[in-house]
Amino acid sequence: MASVSLKHIYKKYPGGVTAVSDFNLEIKDKEFLVLVGPSGCGKTTLLNIIGGLDHYTDGDLVIGGRSTKEYGDRDWDVYRNHRVGFIFQSYNLIPHQSVLNNVELALTLSGVSKGERRRRAKAALEQVGLGHRLDNFPAQLSGGEQQRVAIARALVNNPDVIIADEPTGNLDPSRSLELMLLLEKINSLGTTVLVVTHEQELVRRFDKRVIAIDDGLVVSDGLEEEEEELPELEEPPLSTDSILLIVVLPAIPSAVRP
Ligand code: ADP
Ligand code: MG
Repeated sequence: MASVSLKHIYKKYPGGVTAVSDFNLEIKDKEFLVLVGPSGCGKTTLLNIIGGLDHYTDGDLVIGGRSTKEYGDRDWDVYRNHRVGFIFQSYNLIPHQSVLNNVELALTLSGVSKGERRRRAKAALEQVGLGHRLDNFPAQLSGGEQQRVAIARALVNNPDVIIADEPTGNLDPSRSLELMLLLEKINSLGTTVLVVTHEQELVRRFDKRVIAIDDGLVVSDGLEEEEEELPELEEPPLSTDSILLIVVLPAIPSAVRP
């Protein structure tokens, strides 16, 4: 595709929490982008908005030059099912289905034949190094392997963008590194990758564009080296954005943060 632009995005949840306010970001086609920020700052909210799992309450998400304000339900379905692949911290595999079925099920809505679904699912599992575990059940695999099944499931629709929300959160450091290397390989083959991670060490090892977020706003955008200089940056002059931040902060109850 497909660049993705977030323009003045707001997300206010029912009940009054403003998770994201006036968020702006340009994601280029085939980019590898890392989002970092404290728990509760709005990372998952943003990923869900970018992936079409949830909708912004104000602003615009522009995908491949087209405003999603014009999107109907069918456009969102096509976008979610064909252009985006999601990976979650907890893998979200179906326990009573085999590895192969877990990946194949992601193609149920694709309109391709059973044989073609099977062929593509096998190819995706081979791509993540699990071609020999097709008939196993998720519980028979290690955490790292289960997350690779989830990656195969995300890849099988040949999406333009892979969105991964703390994909290494349940993995030990060496498995986390492997997983990031796999995402890097997928990115090098032409898929945009968007990853949220808490792990500073991983961020340091991968020389990628890092977006630091706090309270639903970008606080720095650049490579990790630049981000480390953040404390030395001067306070920006008080702008409308800063005033907005002051207004919005008390609306985020710290008690609801995990
Ligand atoms: P992060 O992923 O950075 O930890 P989230 O995007 O999950 O942050 O949450 C951002 C803020 O929005 C938090 O204050 C959180 O409690 C709130 N929030 C998230 N999801 C919901 C929801 N479904 N309803 C109400 N508030 C929510
Ligand atoms: Mg989150």
